[in-house]
Amino acid sequence: MTILPVIPISPDQPDSAVQSGGVQTRRRPSMPPRHLADLDLAARQTAVQDLGEPAFRAKQLSTHYFGRLVRDAAEMTDLPSATRDKLTSELLPTLLTPVREQACDDGATRKTLWRLHDGALVESVLMGYSDRITACVSSQAGCGMACPFCATGQQGLTRNLSVAEIVDQVVYLAGVSASGVVTGSPNRLSRVVFMGMGEPLANYPRVIEAVRRLTTPAPEGLGLSQRHITVSTVGLVPAMRRLIAEQLSVTLALSLHAPDDDLRDELVPVNQRWKVAEVLDAAFDYAAQTGRRVSIEYALIRDVNDQPWRADLLGRLLHGKLAHVNLIPLNPTPGSKWDASPKPVEREFVRRLRESGVSTTVRDTRGREIDGACGQLAAGELTQAGAGGVAADAEVAQ
Ligand code: SAH
Repeated sequence: MTILPVIPISPDQPDSAVQSGGVQTRRRPSMPPRHLADLDLAARQTAVQDLGEPAFRAKQLSTHYFGRLVRDAAEMTDLPSATRDKLTSELLPTLLTPVREQACDDGATRKTLWRLHDGALVESVLMGYSDRITACVSSQAGCGMACPFCATGQQGLTRNLSVAEIVDQVVYLAGVSASGVVTGSPNRLSRVVFMGMGEPLANYPRVIEAVRRLTTPAPEGLGLSQRHITVSTVGLVPAMRRLIAEQLSVTLALSLHAPDDDLRDELVPVNQRWKVAEVLDAAFDYAAQTGRRVSIEYALIRDVNDQPWRADLLGRLLHGKLAHVNLIPLNPTPGSKWDASPKPVEREFVRRLRESGVSTTVRDTRGREIDGACGQLAAGELTQAGAGGVAADAEVAQ
């Protein structure tokens, strides 16, 4: 089996000409077939009726997928066999094919590389703790935000994921959790963070729809708590303002990484459009609206953003606000000129923030061995490597 080359295409320019092997071709981003998880219950009922089945089949199929985490027709024994074959092939097409699954941290962290129907590759990470299991999911194949320290940012954007491609990552990982393989953790997946590949707010309508599907009670959805979902953004201010208006109670994480515009312009290039003051304003307004602390993400990069004066400036910006700082030791990406800050520098940064009255924690570094840690998800490199992708096929875990 070979892996199709992934040609980066901006979904905003569906007809853009791309260079492929010296030939100029036109390719459209190819969205996947319709899936149950793309639809709300009413739309599913219409869909099953269009297939000549009674409306109540929509609920039965939904119970299998969202309630029992079952997608295999053979296990749907309450449905006549011709019906189950028809309904699964029409409404539960395979969207994600596992290409490789890796585990580390004694099996508590598991990364899955998926191939999508058009050959694009994305990754998800499952993280087990003593009291919870968290799924870190991708919202786009690649990313267009170009943050220079992030592996996904280096590969550019391939395309947005569909609602069901996002939801299916979670449903699949909920199934992995339920199988009990994540030892030392509960069997029920309870949290989702949109911190995998992509910028969730650049795929806004689909991400919001996916959040609704994940949080609607079974059988219509997966029944997770909105409070247990975190949407992380580089700071697309208009989309953050739209999110405020949705009146959801998801946690918002803002990837700040620098308290001053000079440096943030470089580390998070979208800052050239929406400045630190504006992005923090939107984050504070979100916190005020929801009553939920925003999480300020800050990857500590040695001699780049880890100076005591930057900790003090960040402390002043966040003092008295409904905000929590999550410091992430930088995970250096291959060929990166940057490194994590030394521990004493990190400790001093934490101390100064806390001294300013800002609650601060340092994130654990789960998944480093399998390149599954923050900012290390870079499925595109595997595709471009070609042979690497084919070799990975040998390890397909079905
Ligand atoms: N696009 C979104 C979500 C994806 S990344 C966002 O930027 O928020 C999730 C977090 O990992 C972000 O805070 C991101 O800045 C951070 N990150 C990216 N690359 C990293 C790296 N090499 N080391 C540590 N954190 C990184």
